[in-house]
Amino acid sequence: MTNDGIRNVIIIGSGPAGYTAALYTARASLAPLVFEGSVTAGGALMNTTEVENFPGFRDGIMGPDLMDNMRAQAERFGAELIADDITAVDLESEVKSVTDSAGAVHRARTVIIATGSQHRRLGLPREDELSGRGVSYCATCDGFFFRGQHIAVVGGGDTAMEEATFLSRFAEKVTIVHRRDTLRASKAMQERAFADPKITFAWNSEVAELHEDGGKLSGLTLRDTVTGATSHLPATGLFVAIGHDPRTELFKGVLTLDEEGYLTVDAPSTRTSIPGVFAAGDVVDHTYRQAITAAGTGCSAALDAERYLAALV
Ligand code: FAD
Repeated sequence: MTNDGIRNVIIIGSGPAGYTAALYTARASLAPLVFEGSVTAGGALMNTTEVENFPGFRDGIMGPDLMDNMRAQAERFGAELIADDITAVDLESEVKSVTDSAGAVHRARTVIIATGSQHRRLGLPREDELSGRGVSYCATCDGFFFRGQHIAVVGGGDTAMEEATFLSRFAEKVTIVHRRDTLRASKAMQERAFADPKITFAWNSEVAELHEDGGKLSGLTLRDTVTGATSHLPATGLFVAIGHDPRTELFKGVLTLDEEGYLTVDAPSTRTSIPGVFAAGDVVDHTYRQAITAAGTGCSAALDAERYLAALV
């Protein structure tokens, strides 16, 4: 922090993007202040079990352990971490301010936004307790765990088709559960799914109930959205692919967002529409959405902030 109480860097968010940005800016002696969020400090991976695709962990690592390691590594180099939410931002001037939940204002010359995105849930009883135990929101992350099983995929858009065709490599059978009788997905994605011999469709259907056996998903009750009739689907995997909501409420009308509400950056840099404000991770990315890509852009944001600060002096 400089004598006038103005920080070099404030980071909003504590997933792989936020902690990586914290590590890099801390090692560059920029003494970052990180707002981790009050409820989900550590980000999306705090809600999962084993992570097998983060490089460097030959035998995999539990999501919360990975995040604890990232946090400790950033702290070791001097990052200051506060488990609180930012509730307001003022980013236009050269000195930016962010307000925490107690109303205290913190000022910095650069701000890195790494607030992530929230996958949409079905909103069913037991959904949270079965998350990581049969219920998943990411085929790339978890598909491998479902080898030889019957998997249901909920959704009718491009993501659902992509997840279903990806999962059919591992699964014995994939059932796409869709509430209408036509898909929203692009024609090419639909055709790939229709041509896949392992994929079948449950049209006009929604998941009404999740069944559990021994703490794991054991089957689903489907409800026909036209007749209301119910049926049993003996799936032991359920992939929910009904979309994500980026956490950008605070930045509406302040920074440029795309039509889906994600922050836009001047790629391949992490520069947003306001100089000195950078964004990284899933709050920008609706294509890859992986811990390693979030960490990668967190690193880019730190380097972008460092170069921006160097150019100010
Ligand atoms: P997040 O991890 O979402 O972190 C965002 C952070 O911002 C949160 O800590 C939140 O508290 C904070 N925040 C938000 N708003 C505010 C605010 N106003 N003030 C302060 N803080 C705020 N990826 C893999 O690569 N491998 C996997 O095996 C894998 N498994 C997954 C399993 C599950 C169940 C889920 C949900 C995701 C999984 N992913 C996996 C995806 C991966 O978790 C995300 O791509 C990654 O966490 C995105 O990182 P991020 O830093 O952009 O955001």
